[in-house]
Amino acid sequence: MQSPRKKTRQVKIGSVTLGGDAPVRLQSMTTTHTRDVEATVDQIAQLAEAGCELVRVATPTEADARALGKIKSRITIPLIADIHFNSRFALIALDEGVDKLRLNPGNIGKREYTVEIVQKAKKRGVPIRIGVNGGSLEKDLMEKFGPTPEALVESAKRHVAILEELDFHDIIISLKASNVPTMVAAYRLASQTFPYPLHLGVTEAGTLLRGSIYNAIGIGTLLQEGIGDTIRVSLTAESVEEIKVGKMILEALELRKGVRVISCPSCGRAEVDVLKLANEVESRAQKLKDPLTISVLGCVVNGPGEAHESDFGITGGKDKGMIYLDGKQHRVVEEEKLVDELFKDIEKKTQT
Ligand code: SF4
Repeated sequence: MQSPRKKTRQVKIGSVTLGGDAPVRLQSMTTTHTRDVEATVDQIAQLAEAGCELVRVATPTEADARALGKIKSRITIPLIADIHFNSRFALIALDEGVDKLRLNPGNIGKREYTVEIVQKAKKRGVPIRIGVNGGSLEKDLMEKFGPTPEALVESAKRHVAILEELDFHDIIISLKASNVPTMVAAYRLASQTFPYPLHLGVTEAGTLLRGSIYNAIGIGTLLQEGIGDTIRVSLTAESVEEIKVGKMILEALELRKGVRVISCPSCGRAEVDVLKLANEVESRAQKLKDPLTISVLGCVVNGPGEAHESDFGITGGKDKGMIYLDGKQHRVVEEEKLVDELFKDIEKKTQT
């Protein structure tokens, strides 16, 4: 059983609410140089098209910070500036109209710099995410705790205290680690410690297959326990893959409705090429907008049963297959034409 979502303090990032009773939000980060406005806007458009609800961009130079306003004026989803150490870039980002900052106040240097940023963020209603990372923990915490969940939460507490002292509470917290059990334990502890929304992610999770699995286990475990308000699937892959995987994690836990392709692993009973059919259906289904379920099964052992529970289905026979519509047998089609004919039926039904 999935635990009820833990109610966190809601924040607003541009037009998007996060935390509280808002749905779990899906986000990603661009891989372009932010100062390359055209490339960054293009990539954000692809991410938004894939379902990304919030986008973060690196801001390591003044040119990157100064490009933020131009980017923001050309995109449809809220823009987050990722600032590491330079307080001036944070102030420029705020002036350029970003919707959220990712910044650790303890890393900014003099207190007066933090005060200026926080005052400006507060005036403009811009939340701040504190992002603690297992790879960059403070030296004293590493000596005291090692790379543990306790060290990650202690580090977050320090940054949170700085913001709270300045009466700033539009805070989001992340505590990322590349080790999945550490990440899960850190977020569990954070969920008991802070009232603020949590941004979930496994950092440096790896390439597409490994990273997807590690993220699905880490993020999925926490979401199933009702922990987490927004997710970023970090992958060494095209950014758009992060959104595809993130969507599947949310759909698997029934936190979001989407297009689901159910397919069997095939076996010696199949007389159609199930792998080919299922992969073609999955790839074409990515373009569908309405939530629906499509089953692709190799034979009548489980085909009719799954098709009965699906909006559309294919059950293989000898070099042909039965297309199901709303759980009922619809028509028999030769194997080579099965996917095309299935999508004709899907288009007809979803356009009516
Ligand atoms: S549905 Fe048929 S082909 Fe697919 S795994 Fe089951 S028995 Fe094998």
